[in-house]
Amino acid sequence: MQLKSEKSICIIGAGQAGICAARRCYEAGFKDITIFEQSNMIGGLWNYSDKLDVHSSIYDKLLKAEIFEEKTVAIIGAGLTGLDICEQVSKYADKVYLLYKEIDVLPYEFPQNVIKLTQPNDAKNTNLYLANGDKLTDLDTVIYCTGYKFDFPFLDPNIIKVKVNGKLVSPLFEHVAHRDYLDSFFIIGLPCLGIATHIIEHQVSFAISLINGEATGFTKEDVDKWEEKRIKELFDNNESLRHFHYFHHPLSFSQWEYYKRLSNYTNIPNYCPPVYEKIWFHLLGNVQKTPCEYRKYQYKILNDEEFEAEPWNS
Ligand SMILES: Cc1cc2nc3c(=O)[nH]c(=O)nc-3n(C[C@H](O)[C@H](O)[C@H](O)COP(=O)(O)OP(=O)(O)OC[C@H]3O[C@@H](n4cnc5c(N)ncnc54)[C@H](O)[C@@H]3O)c2cc1C
Repeated sequence: MQLKSEKSICIIGAGQAGICAARRCYEAGFKDITIFEQSNMIGGLWNYSDKLDVHSSIYDKLLKAEIFEEKTVAIIGAGLTGLDICEQVSKYADKVYLLYKEIDVLPYEFPQNVIKLTQPNDAKNTNLYLANGDKLTDLDTVIYCTGYKFDFPFLDPNIIKVKVNGKLVSPLFEHVAHRDYLDSFFIIGLPCLGIATHIIEHQVSFAISLINGEATGFTKEDVDKWEEKRIKELFDNNESLRHFHYFHHPLSFSQWEYYKRLSNYTNIPNYCPPVYEKIWFHLLGNVQKTPCEYRKYQYKILNDEEFEAEPWNS
């Protein structure tokens, strides 16, 4: 039998997930670790440079909102990204149209130059045709904040399939391990709307446990039926299949339960003190109340239970 430290590890991508995987594998005793990175730098989305043709989550640097000075801008989509960009663009633009399917349910106070409208059905040149028959013809810029799809063009589609229009990666167990290559094939970081660093850390620990044959607490049937069970869970909660990898519904798929489950499989203590959850809900509450203000807080962890949120001057 191959000793665990003799197994070779191949990591594709040196973003947050790849770097974490490399570090934890090294700490776990693996000696032969190779990372393939297509660009000439590490860091992935968090490593933004003007020269890179990537979408970065570090909006402050990416989005030089001053370029929208005195412009009329349409933002399509009012998820976290759309709201975030709306907040920044509205500081400079003359007028911002925020277009969203369920615009009436957005309970926020927006700046006066933000006009909420329903979603577009069609676009031609710089004109947008809205679902209610209206037409926008005075636009300088249209920004699409309509989400993204998973895609693994470098993997054989017989091994990994992306279903539901880019939203469901199959076949996996617990969003991370390949059902048929449980101890040797992992996709780290798929779940959305959670704490990315935490998801990655827990998934990498689980993957290492599986590689080492040390993971416990589930059966082959659990693995084989996991995707089916998750689909049923979404169905039972009237949720769209598009949310397969989302920590979306607080009851059906909570990130906190997910961290606990992965920790239980690995027997590694789940370091997720209650204060994390409290900060998360404080932040979400602020996003929902005042999407244009929530960035104004910085959080200080006092102990496992308590934190302070203070306005900061950025
Ligand atoms: C718009 C947006 C906003 C986000 N905002 C936040 C946020 O505020 N907070 C948060 O925690 N998370 C946020 N995220 C989630 C973000 O995806 C994670 O924080 C984190 O960057 C993901 O790390 P990763 O390593 O999985 O992917 P990435 O950071 O994208 O790294 C992937 C790496 O793999 C490389 N690569 C890709 N394909 C290949 C290949 N075939 N061969 C070799 N190398 C390859 C890429 O060059 C890249 O370096 C956001 C994501 C998006 C898209």
